[in-house]
Amino acid sequence: MPRDKTAAAYRVHIETFGCQMNEYDTELVRALLKAEGFALTDDRERADVVLMNTCAIRENAHNKVYGHLADLKAIKRQRSLVVGVLGCMAQNLKKELMETESIVDVLVGPDSYRRLPDLIAQAIEAQEQGLAHKGIAVDLSEYETYEDILPERAEGVNAWIAVMRGCDNFCTFCVVPYTRGRERSRDPQGIIREAEHLAAHGYKQVTLLGQNVNSYRYEDWDFARLITAVAEIPGIERVRFTSPHPKDFPPALLDAVAGHPNICKHIHLPLQSGNDRILQMMNRTYTCKEYLDLVDDIRRRRSDIALTTDIICGFCTETEEEFLDTYLTMQEVGYHAAFIFKYSERKNTIAARKYPDDVPDTVKSDRVTRLVELQKAISLEKNREMIGRTVPVLVEGDAKKSSAQWMGRTDSNITVVWEKRGSSARPGDLVPMTISRVSATTLFGEERPPS
Ligand code: SF4
Repeated sequence: MPRDKTAAAYRVHIETFGCQMNEYDTELVRALLKAEGFALTDDRERADVVLMNTCAIRENAHNKVYGHLADLKAIKRQRSLVVGVLGCMAQNLKKELMETESIVDVLVGPDSYRRLPDLIAQAIEAQEQGLAHKGIAVDLSEYETYEDILPERAEGVNAWIAVMRGCDNFCTFCVVPYTRGRERSRDPQGIIREAEHLAAHGYKQVTLLGQNVNSYRYEDWDFARLITAVAEIPGIERVRFTSPHPKDFPPALLDAVAGHPNICKHIHLPLQSGNDRILQMMNRTYTCKEYLDLVDDIRRRRSDIALTTDIICGFCTETEEEFLDTYLTMQEVGYHAAFIFKYSERKNTIAARKYPDDVPDTVKSDRVTRLVELQKAISLEKNREMIGRTVPVLVEGDAKKSSAQWMGRTDSNITVVWEKRGSSARPGDLVPMTISRVSATTLFGEERPPS
């Protein structure tokens, strides 16, 4: 940092791409920068430092980051600006980014955020002296959980708590084990203290996060015990969790979800493919039958638990028949919603090294379209069953399309929209809502007056 200036003289703007874990990591980074005195700004045009917290899961996310880098290049031609790339792309593409993207000054992977304030200060100093400088921190850690850092959260109804980091599963298509390292879980007492702090500050919903959240283990604590302990904290109205792996659902966890009133009746259960050969190539460690048995187990406990999923279309060598197995499995399960993606080869993954990415892009796109159409029809049918029912909805804030409407979510995580006129609801309230009409993605309701 130049001697005549402090960190407070520099405004940092952070853009976040990808999953909730990245949103959470941005909150950690904000806390780390604030503790070192940097000013934070939402306005990129006025920023002295722009950081991009990136995602390496899909091609689309990569392309967005490269697009933003091109914009920043234009800004950097006109004035001084420090540009940093954080997160999974920084970890996975360090060499390429440093060599081909001349405007990147700082590159920091997900386990090295503690070094970020120093690297930014060095980059600012070098830039003000007209020196070429690149700061890199991409070491993976077996221990880093940022346990002692209280994230700088945006105000709202929901707060995320990362309970574990990393992944040991090595699904062959996935880059996460290489960008985020081995699994490690946080001390449950620290998590409980954080959740108590959130409840005391008015957050009504807590979402427990991890790349493989239900493999959480710390001494004799497992995920079922942890989520129950969090749900029992006074003031926490709802607890959610994401993203789980189907292999880690012991009966105690299903009992916790089914039996505890504060744990939301929604399980995200990534299927990825409904064909055993493809599942094996993906190293998902379950067969389609084992997955369907788990679905039966869940529904035997409570038929109202909503299931959602992730699907990859056109994984290496997937045939039309194998794709149809996925189609039929989706029909059989009847998910409330599904995130459906084309397979995109990720550098450094097992699939990239071992298998040909040989399904033509047009075939992948066609398969995605067919599954999206199927899912739309299923979601619409499920939502229609809600018409006339009254359900508790947690108010989150203004609806996306109109500030004259509220938006909230049901326990099963379905979006509900209703008119503000005549409503005394506030974000964070749980209100009874009678559903009057639906689309495939949204329920529209009317607030039931208190009796
Ligand atoms: S479980 Fe599989 S898909 Fe999920 S983060 Fe780990 S390797 Fe990636």
